Amino acid sequence: MSLDPTDWNAARALARTMAEEMVTYLETVRERPVWQSVPADVKAELAAPIPRAGAPLADVYDSFKRNILPYPTGNIHPRFWGWVMGTGSITAMLADMLASGMNPHLAGYDQSASLIERQVLNWLTELIGLPAGSSGVLVSGGTAANLNGLMAARVAKAGYDVRELGAQGGPPLTVYGSTETHSWIYKACETMGMGRRAFRAIPVDADYRIDVRACRAAIEADKAAGLRPFAIVGNCGTVGTGAIDDLAALRDLADAHGLWLHIDGAFGALAALAPRDSHLVKGQELADSLAFDLHKWGYLPYECGVILTRDGAAQTATWQSQTPGGPAYLRSANEGIAVETTYFSDRDLQLSRGFKALKVWMALMEQGVDAIGAAIQSNIDQARYLGRLVEATPELELLAHVSLNVVNFRFRPDGLTDEAVNLLNQKILAQLQIRGIAVPSQTVLEGRFAIRVANTNHRSTEADFDLLVTAVCDIGRELTA
Ligand SMILES: *Cc1c(COP(=O)(O)O)cnc(C)c1O
Repeated sequence: MSLDPTDWNAARALARTMAEEMVTYLETVRERPVWQSVPADVKAELAAPIPRAGAPLADVYDSFKRNILPYPTGNIHPRFWGWVMGTGSITAMLADMLASGMNPHLAGYDQSASLIERQVLNWLTELIGLPAGSSGVLVSGGTAANLNGLMAARVAKAGYDVRELGAQGGPPLTVYGSTETHSWIYKACETMGMGRRAFRAIPVDADYRIDVRACRAAIEADKAAGLRPFAIVGNCGTVGTGAIDDLAALRDLADAHGLWLHIDGAFGALAALAPRDSHLVKGQELADSLAFDLHKWGYLPYECGVILTRDGAAQTATWQSQTPGGPAYLRSANEGIAVETTYFSDRDLQLSRGFKALKVWMALMEQGVDAIGAAIQSNIDQARYLGRLVEATPELELLAHVSLNVVNFRFRPDGLTDEAVNLLNQKILAQLQIRGIAVPSQTVLEGRFAIRVANTNHRSTEADFDLLVTAVCDIGRELTA
């Protein structure tokens, strides 16, 4: 039984409506609250029983417009700066529709989609500054990309056949990174069967950069104790403050001890495209593997992460099936669809893979790298602008150096205890969100609760940051009155 429409003209008309209304939705995003909670009656409707019998698509679309569309996270709004989220674009939205329509399978195969994924990986490799022989693959996001890099590190540096023997086939394996390393590292260590204690969290300096001497000492101590260090994780843009480790020093340290250097550039890596500030992320091209997201500072819709590996063979050595010749049902043929191509499924966990590459390709083709670089530069400039605004406002306090695009600050009236200031700022942050004014998120820096703005938003303007500062002060005064 075919699931295609019986009335293709009606489907065409509805498709046109959906596309048009979605473009309008994006055009008018600024007019809506940044975020609003899902009301109880809508929550109830969204918990409806299984639909045994279907309904016309137009009715289902109506339900989408009433119950789903009005209640997103809000990250496409010009004043959403929480965590590190991306804003997306119309071009990429349309590309996702086209990709789903084609619905190709991206394990490999002799097809245009494979060539497009290969092409965008080549472009990204060149833009980041890794050598031409690098290998790469598009994945779901930074977590998956970082895991992929660490897996390659372990295969390359464990000193025994990890793929055959597993995590416990030799001395206990250890990996090093700063205390500011994103929590993916723990997920990865657990997933890899090494346990969380495989990660050695190294202290940071006053600017939240890894203490390289402490890292060296930890590696030496572990080696002396019979453990097997295999990798260092460098941060190119920490999630807390945007700090960038001394990546060249980490490269030297890794070389001195025969370790793999993996760099987490989840959002920071793409600062390489910023015309005036690309120097900030210099050194990331020294990585053995580099992970970054395109759904953050690449301004693409979810999901899209990238992992690049300097030694192309290292990635396939980690993931390629080791059944001789590959499993019979996947073996390459000499003729036909399965003839030689790039096998992306030999570079990552996934076998069935979608056509993420199309939105990357279309956005790059339509916007051009220079425009994307200009948007990234403007986000960095805006972060500095916000930093200056905070410093110029007596009731506000900047809590960390603005090294990239992350600003941490708080409202700080006189005469309150530290604990009261923390509580007050927590309430200010909640009110900003509840009133739909703006969505920053939070962190705690040396015991101080920070309102945290991470700017990867191509829709923000300086006026949006003026508005944020005014709102924080107004709400702060209101709550302390
Ligand atoms: C977002 C982020 C991650 C995780 O990436 P996901 O795409 O959310 O899986 C890892 N590291 C840093 C620094 C990040 O900002």
